[in-house]
Amino acid sequence: MEQVSGEVGAFKATIRKKARYVNQDLCTGCGSCAEKCPTMVVDAYNAGMGKRKAIYKYFPQGIPSVFTIDAPECRQLGQGKKCGVCAKVCQAKAIDFDQKDAIIEIEAGAIILATGYDVFDPSVIPEYGYTTINNVVTALEFERLLSASGPTAGHLDRPSDLLMEKDLEEGEKEVKKLARQVKSLEDKHGKTSADVVAAVKSGSAAVDDELIQWAQAAEKLAALEERVATLQKKTAAVQTAKKLAFIQCVGSRDFRFNRFCSSYCCMHSVKEAMIANEHDNAVNSSIFCMDLRAVGRGFEEYKLRGGKQANIKYVRGRVAEITEDEANNPIVWYESTTTQKVEHETFDMVVLATACVPTEGTAKVAELFGVELESNGFFKTHPLAPLNTTRPGIFTCGCAQGPMDIPESVAQASSAAARAAEVVAPLATVEKQKAVG
Ligand SMILES: Cc1cc2nc3c(=O)[nH]c(=O)nc-3n(C[C@H](O)[C@H](O)[C@H](O)COP(=O)(O)OP(=O)(O)OC[C@H]3O[C@@H](n4cnc5c(N)ncnc54)[C@H](O)[C@@H]3O)c2cc1C
Ligand code: SF4
Ligand code: SF4
Repeated sequence: MEQVSGEVGAFKATIRKKARYVNQDLCTGCGSCAEKCPTMVVDAYNAGMGKRKAIYKYFPQGIPSVFTIDAPECRQLGQGKKCGVCAKVCQAKAIDFDQKDAIIEIEAGAIILATGYDVFDPSVIPEYGYTTINNVVTALEFERLLSASGPTAGHLDRPSDLLMEKDLEEGEKEVKKLARQVKSLEDKHGKTSADVVAAVKSGSAAVDDELIQWAQAAEKLAALEERVATLQKKTAAVQTAKKLAFIQCVGSRDFRFNRFCSSYCCMHSVKEAMIANEHDNAVNSSIFCMDLRAVGRGFEEYKLRGGKQANIKYVRGRVAEITEDEANNPIVWYESTTTQKVEHETFDMVVLATACVPTEGTAKVAELFGVELESNGFFKTHPLAPLNTTRPGIFTCGCAQGPMDIPESVAQASSAAARAAEVVAPLATVEKQKAVG
């Protein structure tokens, strides 16, 4: 949205539709372009834990189900290189490198702001180790790990183990390269690397620069082979995560950050712990909370079912710190309100239930639409008309006006549509009457 003018019943909006460099009327969503595209890009949808191509669909269920070129990452559009592989393989002739942003003007009687929320960045709580302990993840990252279409195809691989596997892959590649280099020197000189290393170490006068470099490469190869062998042993012993900790209210109900309750995170932690246990019955979870807010029809029963059927333990205690042992296992330190003692427990992985915060662009959107924000930064609404913003004809729903779960957001969206129809329907009737004469 670039500009909004007018008033209730007669708004005018100017919208920029960004170029996708794919003609959406021709694209069939077949995916051949992404299969052949040579450019790998970090996948933001998978919370940075996987890769996608430069031509991509943001997420599998997106509508319309068509592809888009990520222009800055594309070799041809963003880097001025020759490529065009996608255009060559696209049988529908849908790729359009010359496509431009389109400016669309809309006349509208009413507007609904439904810009949702962002998740709180837990790196501002250093004691939880989000940026320093690999096996501490956010709930959103955990959802991607649990998802069959996610970076681990639904397996609970620990981030530290994924990094170790990557390290091993790179190490093995480097070993192959160095081994080739050393072998070609051995063939050329008809000597073994061990003899050359010994000669260089003894300070023999017959040693030249080439032999010194050869000895260095041979020693580097030996050290790397040892490291790769250790990594191979370690990765062979790797298991998926079995013991999980969920930390509630990360950035919520905390006077340093957000005083409010984010309302949905208690239930999504129970859900995630239940799904993890459905994937693998050996998984057990501890949910650390001040109180578990199961507010909603059937929610308390769901929580109890998690305890009985999915190995979930509910621990009353605010977590103070997370540390890490030598095997990359996070250790959770907390004061148990049951024993009134400082306790600690080691887990395979920790999941942070981060707060629901206003989207980064909320203030800008508020300025553009001339509406006010409330003290937490969400769109301000009227207590007796909870979908009304401070400007007549502009409504809001879902997490744009405060934290809420999907059923509540959907119910609010229906209500907001009805409220907008109340504004627009009489205008449409007048137009119809005018047309009839
Ligand atoms: C880890 C996690 C798990 C959850 N699990 C559950 C669950 O199991 N069940 C449940 O009920 N709830 C769950 N929730 C809560 C759920 O995500 C929210 O209730 C829901 O997404 C709110 O919907 P919304 O449409 O208001 O906002 P959003 O889903 O945030 O949608 C807003 C949309 O607006 C777009 N947007 C933002 N700004 C602009 C702009 N300026 N211009 C154009 N577009 C813009 C965004 O890209 C986004 O697509 C979970 C939340 C988290 C963090
Ligand atoms: S752009 Fe072409 S190749 Fe790519 S998904 Fe669409 S139709 Fe298929
Ligand atoms: S829903 Fe639960 S975890 Fe989320 S802020 Fe409220 S009490 Fe904390």
